[in-house]
Amino acid sequence: NNIQIAIDGPAGAGKSTIAKKIAESLDITYIDTGAMYRALTYKAIMNNISMYNHEEIIQLAANTDININKGELYVDAKYVKDEIRSQGVNDHVSYIAQIPGVRKILVKLQKKIALGNSVVMDGRDIGTFVLPDADIKIFLTASIEERAYRRYSELLKQGENIDLKDIEKSIVERDRIDTEREYAPLVKAEDAIIIDTTGLNIDEVVERIINLIMK
Ligand code: C5P
Repeated sequence: NNIQIAIDGPAGAGKSTIAKKIAESLDITYIDTGAMYRALTYKAIMNNISMYNHEEIIQLAANTDININKGELYVDAKYVKDEIRSQGVNDHVSYIAQIPGVRKILVKLQKKIALGNSVVMDGRDIGTFVLPDADIKIFLTASIEERAYRRYSELLKQGENIDLKDIEKSIVERDRIDTEREYAPLVKAEDAIIIDTTGLNIDEVVERIINLIMK
């Protein structure tokens, strides 16, 4: 029997770290849907396409080949990693993710990947749109201070030293756009379980979710 786990929540709540660990421990596929929106944003920036030019962005989405193999992302057959996590991408991605035509293309792909497979998928609309029948839905949150600090540490590891206050502002703005967009906004699914990860260590959260699955 396949198992499908949906993890949603605001930026920096620890979704990807936790989803990855759950996937490892259950030996199932991890799908980072944020990485797909990021990859498209990165490609738009590289091609000098304005994020306000919805027609061209939708064209770009339709003409981009996105694959996930063993949890790693490939865009147009090229392996991508850190380049989609830059502050430049952070600052643009929510504008691109609010375009319904873009979401329709990516959600279709996400559903296709999940079909007939055991997956843990993280994003903003997984429990509501992508996997509405998931076996378990988690809504991860954490205080804004902790979320900003986590992003700060991530960026620092990549060699980007950005002021913590600026990161906090950029996260608040991204959450605002994600929550206020008209089509498929960031919202807790009715049947999702909320876990606040502030002050919790990763393994505690992973264990809690795995216990919920095993019940
Ligand atoms: O999860 P991550 O922070 O990498 O996501 C980057 C952005 O992609 C989010 O801020 C949001 O705008 C968009 N996103 C989305 N729906 C998803 C996953 C990500 O709109 N399922």
